[in-house]
Amino acid sequence: MIAQAIHTIKDELPQGVKLVAVSKFHPAEAIREAYDAGQRLFGESRPQEFEAKARMLPEDIEWHFIGHLQTNKLKMVLPYVSMVQSVDSGHLLEAIDKWCRANGKVMDVLLELHLGAEETKQGFMAGEIESILSERQAFAGVRFRGLMGMATNTDDESLIRADFARISSFFQQLRSKFPIFSEFNELSIGMSHDWKIAVEYGATYIRVGTSIFGERKY
Ligand SMILES: *Cc1c(COP(=O)(O)O)cnc(C)c1O
Repeated sequence: MIAQAIHTIKDELPQGVKLVAVSKFHPAEAIREAYDAGQRLFGESRPQEFEAKARMLPEDIEWHFIGHLQTNKLKMVLPYVSMVQSVDSGHLLEAIDKWCRANGKVMDVLLELHLGAEETKQGFMAGEIESILSERQAFAGVRFRGLMGMATNTDDESLIRADFARISSFFQQLRSKFPIFSEFNELSIGMSHDWKIAVEYGATYIRVGTSIFGERKY
């Protein structure tokens, strides 16, 4: 079932759009099943659970962290991941930079743009992202690779489209404003219920959990 779901999604994905299989709350055996179906890129969002799974699964898995990350949990996460997609505060960015410089790493990061109406949502305002990118030289331990966003959680497709349109045009704007910045080329938008729409708006990563692994049991 997991293998079938992965193949179905991959068959529909245009070239250049990468599938992040979101395995949070699912056991290592489920990840192994996806791995055996050829999937190598996985997303996790809970540090403790993630570290335990990363240690028991094959080393050629590429892990991306996609959840809210507290700075006191960095050491459970950063040794294992190749990208943090969910950088949502200056405090976190500075802590990742510091950890990486101390550990001889350079971490790929996406900056999370606040989207949607809900007050509780994580993420930066557009202006904050511009300031960070203007000062990117200060972050030697970090490579800025692009933006991440979560659309409003709704069945109203027009709201989802409005969110994706906004992040997509901001992304293009940043890419032309910082032209020497060619590695800033990843846009992570789209989940199980909206990834097909996200692809229309230029997603380079989609993050899909439920459609691959089934419902999560919290
Ligand atoms: C859980 C999660 C996903 C996957 O959501 P599904 O609806 O299960 O596909 C994607 N992105 C983030 C940031 C998540 O936390």
